[in-house]
Parts: sequence; structure tokens; C-alpha cells
Amino acid sequence: MQNIIEPFRIKSVEPIKMSTRKNREFYLQAAHYNPFLLPARDVIIDLLTDSGTGAMSSEQWAGIMRGDESYAGSISFQRFEKSIQNIMGFKYVIPTHQGRAAERILFSIMCKKGQVVPSNTHFDTTRANIEFQGTEARDLRIPEAMDPELLHPFKGNMDLDKLQQTIDSVGKENIPLIMVTITNNSGGGQPVSMANIRGISEIARAHGIPFYVDACRFAENAYFIKLREEGYARKSVKSIVKELFSYTDGCTMSAKKDGIANIGGFLCSNDEQLADKEKDLLILTEGFPTYGGLAGRDLEAIAIGLNEAIEEDYLRYRIRSTQYLGDNIASAGVPIMQPPGGHAIYIDARSFLPHIPPHQYPGWSLACELYVEAGIRSVEVGAVMFGIHDPESGKDVTLPELDLVRLAIPRRTYTQSHIDYVIEAIINVYRRREKIKGLKITRQTQYLRHFTAHFKKL
Ligand SMILES: *Cc1c(COP(=O)(O)O)cnc(C)c1O
Repeated sequence: MQNIIEPFRIKSVEPIKMSTRKNREFYLQAAHYNPFLLPARDVIIDLLTDSGTGAMSSEQWAGIMRGDESYAGSISFQRFEKSIQNIMGFKYVIPTHQGRAAERILFSIMCKKGQVVPSNTHFDTTRANIEFQGTEARDLRIPEAMDPELLHPFKGNMDLDKLQQTIDSVGKENIPLIMVTITNNSGGGQPVSMANIRGISEIARAHGIPFYVDACRFAENAYFIKLREEGYARKSVKSIVKELFSYTDGCTMSAKKDGIANIGGFLCSNDEQLADKEKDLLILTEGFPTYGGLAGRDLEAIAIGLNEAIEEDYLRYRIRSTQYLGDNIASAGVPIMQPPGGHAIYIDARSFLPHIPPHQYPGWSLACELYVEAGIRSVEVGAVMFGIHDPESGKDVTLPELDLVRLAIPRRTYTQSHIDYVIEAIINVYRRREKIKGLKITRQTQYLRHFTAHFKKL
């Protein structure tokens, strides 16, 4: 069969409130042209993020009822720990309320001021938690990753030469750990190859440096390895995942991604002494080591979700459905980051709207247009999110190289007909792109302005 269908049926539904273009023009104006300020009920298709927004399975909901809420020694923790040990192969598992809590605990123990943590690309919370320790977070992407149109099977790879040069220049004693983000979220959800993981591991082991994975989308990454890397087509995703983690010393994880849960995270390692120190910190700010800031029911949902995330029928649908959106808009001429990633499609807004200069925010304008056109909420990853302005004049002093609009796909949440609707909307907006105008910021904060800024149409 050519058609790949959603490998699930729908047992419980959540209504979507429909609206007219007139309604949405009003809603967006009331939200000061900032999609973050829209009430979610006024959004028809919400592609703001794939984090914690996936649909849980009937098994996960059953697990929610089975959750053991004991303060210490909960059976749900045992199931959670077993499931992670079984899938990833790590000895010590520490639950946390989200991925960033795992990052904070790991970096506050391992990192010192003035040290450097290399990665392919650090995710923003990872970078912030490293920098909070006075440590430098250094991105070492392969050169191919910088070209949005270039096709490369593993655009998320780390540049191994640059890694070796970094170790040579700063000294192995100044590198507390090496990290790799799979898939590379900030780089467009692009996968990292097994050969690259092996290469990083060899370098790390030769210098006695611990090697950690930011594992949020480990299952999607494993499926890309199966599809694209020589020698893996016949291997099971489960065995690919096991092999991948066998080259590493630990991981941080947000269960809101490939845990298909609405909340949660964890931190893993094979080092008993380190795990003991981590548990001490955990007790201080998250909770006792058998719940770590989560309810027993959350631990159950994650234990089950991780196993569902590595099912190959699910992954085939997941990777194919993201690609379906990317391929359909690209073939209509819409410029996107190529090839389509695992969890999101990124539109190159500067090429989409070449008549809008970067300081009039083409990415933000496009996100607003998609909302008005069809009630689709996306997110700008560009001049508003990463631009730096002078607090006195409010004028932008540095703007990033790219203006992208990210369409993140929540797991198991939308059907193909929802995605067909998104495709139609994007193509409609593309056809009338010359009429779209830029925006001006009327109110902003010093940091993370995208969450709260107000805008005016030019
Ligand atoms: C989401 C995410 C995190 C942080 O996880 P939270 O659960 O949101 O705290 C870290 N790294 C990557 C790659 C992510 O996508």
C-alpha cells in the first residue's frame, strides 16, 4: 500500500472551536499581533510546539489510574525505572519534572566556571543552564547544517574535527562533558548518524571526557538511522536505540517529547557516585528520588509512552506525516529547510517574504498571516526571538541570520485531513505573499521578548 495511515483509532475527542477570518482578525488584534498571547481556544490547529501536546494512548490513560502515589518506593517508579533501563540501558535513573530540571542538576554538579561544553547544537534551556554555571556552551555543527536548502541525510551531526580542535585548544580538563542533541531541535529536527555518535564517543573516551545525550527525540532519531544509514535497515529501532546509548555515559530527557507524556523528564547515568550527588540535589529542589517532582501517575504515563514511541508503525507514520507536510508545501514553491525534520517543518520566511526587511520581522508577519488565514498557530524562530535591541531606543542592534517559521507537529494529535488543511492555508498565503506587510514592535521586555511583545501592522 502507498498510503500510510495513522496507526491508531480515536476513542476520545476534543472539540475544536471553528472561527471565521473576521473573528481571527479581531482575536489577533486583541492579542497585539502576538500569537503567544492568543487564548488556545481561539486556535484551530496549534503547531506552536510538540512539547507535552501529544495525545496519550488508552494504555497510558489506564496507567494514569494505576499510578501509585506513595511518597517513597512507589511501584510506578519501579515501572518507570525498568522501562528506561530496558530501552536505554542506563543503570541509574532519576525522575525530574521536566528536561530542564535534569539539565540543571547535571550541569550544577559537572560544570565549573570557565569550562566549555561542546555540542552539535545546544537547545536553548540547555545552553541557559550551562551558562548559568559560568560555563561556555559551544555549538559545533557540520558546515552542511548552515545551508537551509542543502540535502544531507544527517544534518544534525557534530563536526568531529572541530570537536578535536576544541579539546586541543581548551584542554580536556576544561571540558566537563560533551553533549549531543538528538534529533537536533534547534537545527530543524535533523538527525545525528550512528557513525557520528560512535565518532564522538571514541574522541570522548580517548580523553576520558563523559559523553551525554540530550535524548528528547531519541526514537525519531533512531528511525532516521534505520531509514538512512547503511547497515541499519534490517535492525529494529529497539536495537538501534540500545546501540546508540551504549556509546554514551548518560542522558537528559524531556518526556514531553518522545515520552509522549504531558509532563516529566529524567536524568540517567552509569556512575553511582555521580548519581548519588544528583539525588542529593534532586531532594533539595525536585523531590524524593522515587518521584522527583512528578506524580506516580505521570511516571506510569512515561513508562508506557517511551515504549510506544519506539514502535515502528508509530515511527513510520510520525516521520512520514511530518515529511508529508514539508513535501506538499515545498512542491508548491514554499521555501522550507530541507530535508524535513522529525518533529517540525521550518519555513524560510525571508525567502517567502523577500519584500519585508528583517527589521520588519518577516517570520512574525508570516506566523500572523497563517493565523488569520486558517487559525493555525506556528512560531517565529528569527528576528523577534533572537534579535537583540537597545533598551533605550528600542531599536534592534543585532538580528539573526535566518527568519524561520516553525510548524511543530504534536504526536498522534492531528489527522491527515488537519494537515491537508494546513497545507492549503500555507499555499493560499504563499499566493498572496506580495500583499503581506511587516510589523513594528510597540512594547517589549529586555529578555525573551517574543513571549510578551506587542506589535503594530505597518
Ligand atoms: C524540550 C527540550 C528540552 C527541555 O525540556 P523541557 O521538558 O521543556 O524542560 C531540552 N532539549 C531539547 C532538545 C528539547 O527539545
